[in-house]
Amino acid sequence: MAPVPSTAPKAFSPPHARGYDLIVIGAGGVGSAAAYHAARAGRRVLLLEQFSIGHARGSSYGGSRIIRYTHDTPGLAAQMPATFHLWHDLERESGTRLLQLTGGLYLARQDTPWLMDCRTTLDDLGFSYQLMDSAGLRYAYPQFQAPDDWCALYQAHTGILAATRCVETLVAQAQRHGAEIRAETPVLAVEPDGDGVRVQLAGGETLSAARAILAAGPWSGRFLAELLDFPVPLRVTHQQVAYFSVQDPAAFAVGTFPIFIAALDEHFYGFPIWERPGTIKLALEQTALIVDPDSPRRVDDDLLAQLSQLVAAYLPGADPTPVHAEPCLYTETPTRDFVIDRHPQHPQIVVAAGFSGRGFKHTIAVGKLLDELAFSDPGNDASAFWLDSYRITRFIQTQTSAV
Ligand SMILES: Cc1cc2nc3c(=O)[nH]c(=O)nc-3n(C[C@H](O)[C@H](O)[C@H](O)COP(=O)(O)OP(=O)(O)OC[C@H]3O[C@@H](n4cnc5c(N)ncnc54)[C@H](O)[C@@H]3O)c2cc1C
Repeated sequence: MAPVPSTAPKAFSPPHARGYDLIVIGAGGVGSAAAYHAARAGRRVLLLEQFSIGHARGSSYGGSRIIRYTHDTPGLAAQMPATFHLWHDLERESGTRLLQLTGGLYLARQDTPWLMDCRTTLDDLGFSYQLMDSAGLRYAYPQFQAPDDWCALYQAHTGILAATRCVETLVAQAQRHGAEIRAETPVLAVEPDGDGVRVQLAGGETLSAARAILAAGPWSGRFLAELLDFPVPLRVTHQQVAYFSVQDPAAFAVGTFPIFIAALDEHFYGFPIWERPGTIKLALEQTALIVDPDSPRRVDDDLLAQLSQLVAAYLPGADPTPVHAEPCLYTETPTRDFVIDRHPQHPQIVVAAGFSGRGFKHTIAVGKLLDELAFSDPGNDASAFWLDSYRITRFIQTQTSAV
């Protein structure tokens, strides 16, 4: 019988005296979770961040991100019970409240493949849910003005992660477990150096480590262009969220109004009152506005106007004039599957990029996976959080000859 691979990474002993066991580049959700798990495992960790910890210029800033069992494909959905556990473990360990359950309403026209795929995934994994037609939806949630051909799925395991607080907590806990944190420290380059890595800082310093994890979010593209001999197609897009006042705050409170995701041409989603008293946070995902992560963040008035129209059409209890808006960035691969893998030639460098608009909930599990990939043998992908769709080699173009 073939031996069953262990899910535990191999015991690690540094190949030779290097400054650190691990340098993590980027203290967003992904990098801070990787630093936390590695420090907790007893490794000598350095976490480098170009801006302040919890800054607003990347993808992880903000008061709320959705966490949910409901997915339209089974890979990540199957991990969700374990992912919820990891967040609760962090809450217990840090004594900080990070996750608020709200329940989630997933809305679409009856024939929308996304909602059917979500149902199939929930059925296959044995996660319970309730279905409603539009009359049932209007009765249970009169906050929505649902068209007659809509239906809805309610799933209880849906909630809010307090995103910036999660990042700050991960960094603080990494530090408590012995990690060194350096904010305001831009990294210029990450290079293989024998079987270890060399990390060059903008300030002129060069650091060495046995392993590096590259978790640079929207800035990943420039590192990957230097490190790989094939392109990784990452798109960085402008996104924004806005807050709208409601006439009856009790009707939009946690416990009464769930998180919702409505499958229009793009996803229109929203939260109950949570961050700003008397207001709900809403957003319409968009794919068209490609941006340079170094360009100044501005609120886009056309997108704001589109969102106001959706509020007027679907949420009669909310005032369609926004009271506040915040820009943010997505980094996406063409299929929105994340990239999490060792460098094909230099496995001491592990890459984590392309976390799209769905990545935050998974960061705590991705951080654990990254530590496992960094400190286990190349070829060993036996982690509870590994998915084959993460492989970076999927972007290597196969040469086909014309017949
Ligand atoms: C508006 C919006 C709503 C979202 N909603 C949800 C949601 O509801 N649920 C969900 O699960 N996900 C959601 N997401 C997606 C999720 O927030 C992201 O997938 C996730 O935060 C990505 O984290 P990251 O660590 O990859 O990137 P980032 O948070 O951007 O972190 C990368 C870090 O690397 C640092 N860095 C980059 N280059 C360097 C360098 N050279 N030197 C040093 N440091 C460097 C950056 O400064 C940054 O801090 C949303 C995203 C947005 C923008």
